[in-house]
Amino acid sequence: MQKMQKKWLVGNWKMHGSLAANKALMEGIRSEQPTLDERVGMVVCPPFPYLAQLAELTKDSQIGVGTQNVSDHLQGAFTGEVSPLMVKEIGCGYAIIGHSERRQYQGENDGLMGRKALAAIDAGLIPVICVGETAEERDSGRTHEVLARQLDAAFGYIRTAHDNIILAYEPRWAIGTGIAATPEIVQAEHEFLRQRIAIRDKDFAAKLPIIYGGSVKVSNASYIFSMPDVDGGLIGGAALNAREFVTIYRELIEIAG
Ligand code: PEP
Repeated sequence: MQKMQKKWLVGNWKMHGSLAANKALMEGIRSEQPTLDERVGMVVCPPFPYLAQLAELTKDSQIGVGTQNVSDHLQGAFTGEVSPLMVKEIGCGYAIIGHSERRQYQGENDGLMGRKALAAIDAGLIPVICVGETAEERDSGRTHEVLARQLDAAFGYIRTAHDNIILAYEPRWAIGTGIAATPEIVQAEHEFLRQRIAIRDKDFAAKLPIIYGGSVKVSNASYIFSMPDVDGGLIGGAALNAREFVTIYRELIEIAG
């Protein structure tokens, strides 16, 4: 399949940071990598209270800001929720949707993930839709069944003809464990995901960026990113270290070249 050339590096800061720590991290990233390469998008996703700070800290750069979650509604009586329109208004361009930690600790399910993806798109955000199996699902040979179910739920809401999205394959057993999936596993699952989407829309599938997340570090990034169906990474722990994040970014530029 003819593939879109743009690649992505998305940093998920999870529930880490403070005004001072965020400023230091962004200064670190920007001093390491003053000019970004248009072939590789860089996005940082801090917790909600720091989105405005990050929008300000990145405003004269090409670094995008994303949220780690959004409501599936645009407005209304939803106490404690945050509308995608609100984060868009303060300078956010992306939204991580369906992260496994939200599925695990907040009980988010496939249907909610699809509705959140649609709300994010309706607000003008690019959703980073996460799918991935647990260790138990992989060990019992159900990886493809699970990925297909999660994907179909999300894509039931997405208009492939014109929506702009990023898909992230994040096996749960690799997130935060220090044990990344092998490049061969990542390639096999990305290929499966692309083929599954091609059943709905071949052109969209060919252009869709599919990024990998799960214990990506400087030591394994280039092996994983050089696989043909891998279009970048969703990075947790290593995104909190400016030098490491930028080194991974540079690996991606080299591969994109
Ligand atoms: C993540 O939070 O999406 C993630 C991939 O985390 P880590 O890189 O720490 O495994």
